Amino acid sequence: MHEGYLFMSLLRSIEEQTKPFQPCRITKVVLLVGEYSGIDFDYLKAVVETFKEGSVLEDAEVHLKRDPLRVYCPSCGVETTNHEAKACCPLCKSFDVEIRGGLELILASLEVERDEDGTDNH
Ligand SMILES: [Zn+2]
Repeated sequence: MHEGYLFMSLLRSIEEQTKPFQPCRITKVVLLVGEYSGIDFDYLKAVVETFKEGSVLEDAEVHLKRDPLRVYCPSCGVETTNHEAKACCPLCKSFDVEIRGGLELILASLEVERDEDGTDNH
């Protein structure tokens, strides 16, 4: 249950980040799922749908986006996106590359709505 664990730690970090804005409602979350992270995109999506009920994400729209693998090749001197999710340079096929993206699950954006706490009612 790697994806389940990931989601739980994500929830914790969302709770941490929204603490200063409490009370608030999370309305939108964008997650980038690294294509080279070993995370099963569709499975994670299913996990999110299953576990968001009753969590801080209950009212939120959760968008999952694929974050392609990005590699920097020192021989070519360029950073490229390897859509085949292989850790090599798509131009010269060298494996001597630096991975610059697509390795993890990233909380790309978080939108919250503050509860006005009835200030207009008085
Ligand atoms: Zn190259």
